[in-house]
Amino acid sequence: MSEKLVIRNIGLFLSGKMEQPILDGDCIVATDGKISAFGYEADLDTEGATTLVDAKGVTLAPGLIDSHIHPVVGDYTPRQQQLHWIDSTLHGGVTTLISAGEVHMPGRPKDVVGLKALAIASQRWYENFRPSGVKVHAGAPVIEHGMVEEDFKDLADAGVTLLGEVGLGTVKDGKTAQQMVGWARKYGIQSTIHTGGPSIPGSGLIDADMVLETGTDVVGHINGGHSALPDDQIVCLCESCRAALEIVHNGNERAALLTLNTARELDKLDQVILGTDGPAGSGVQPLGILRMIAMLSSLGNVPAELAFCFGNGNTARQRKLDTGMIEVGFCADFVLMDQAQHAPGKDILESVQLGNLPGVGMTVIDGVVRSLRSRNTPPANRLPEVVSGAA
Ligand SMILES: [Zn+2]
Repeated sequence: MSEKLVIRNIGLFLSGKMEQPILDGDCIVATDGKISAFGYEADLDTEGATTLVDAKGVTLAPGLIDSHIHPVVGDYTPRQQQLHWIDSTLHGGVTTLISAGEVHMPGRPKDVVGLKALAIASQRWYENFRPSGVKVHAGAPVIEHGMVEEDFKDLADAGVTLLGEVGLGTVKDGKTAQQMVGWARKYGIQSTIHTGGPSIPGSGLIDADMVLETGTDVVGHINGGHSALPDDQIVCLCESCRAALEIVHNGNERAALLTLNTARELDKLDQVILGTDGPAGSGVQPLGILRMIAMLSSLGNVPAELAFCFGNGNTARQRKLDTGMIEVGFCADFVLMDQAQHAPGKDILESVQLGNLPGVGMTVIDGVVRSLRSRNTPPANRLPEVVSGAA
């Protein structure tokens, strides 16, 4: 028997798409984990739901995506000796995480055979085990001197689809990095780069020239992680790059706003994507993506419905994921949320644009309810409810 999820009484329907961020409708249907229909309940076939959710008038958005994390194993990070950080992140509305390298693995191998083995193993253990249901795209090797084209083919053949941040390994020159990123791209592996000053002892400076010469698919933490590049270099990257411009929580907030404002002037807001860069020196940030959305919306003066797109649809498009947007056939990954209690603003969007976090009331991944009222966000005015079926 197929699984059918129906969510009715949606008050505000966010699409994840900047060209039409708010959808008409009050209902969405998912069959076997994929969106099968959405719109007004009266027009949809909602019979035979195995799970029925009454949204109680709250907002439904595509699940948030963190474009930049550093996982190690399961739901544990040795970086801050923390358990269940991914479960906590789910409670911040994030349903998909993308690794920028498993660099906090104690004793991380830096020889070529070792780094390949770690990447393949990481890809497998997060494919085989999803902490609290969260999708973790991991297995992101950090390039080192001595790698040859065949290594990238081996990695791709073994299921690796991502590179870790260029610059965290021994390759710190644009010429070598460009060659290796080219090999990665040839075999379908996406790439990102550590932009800015060193993050922790042992890492180094990557300036705009190196970013441009390397030509990765994502300009990783363009606002630094932690130290940002000088303003003129950030502006130059915004002007020169067709790659994703990734803004992270663990970076410089002034540089984040500079990136946003420059991208807007250049009509490149569709390239803006969000990450946390957690776990990091500044810890884990379970509400990091929501906080970035509220910060950029309020201080950057972006309508909240567009700021949400930085945290789901834009990332999905740049990363070629079948989640993060409301579209038939896409994964039924959602966050349901409402204006936080006693937060100013006439509705959730105005409240976020005033810099307040929404209250998360439910998350759904692959059509399955994964969490109810968030233990981390402020409490919401209204909470969705599972009427029948599994929760
Ligand atoms: Zn970094």
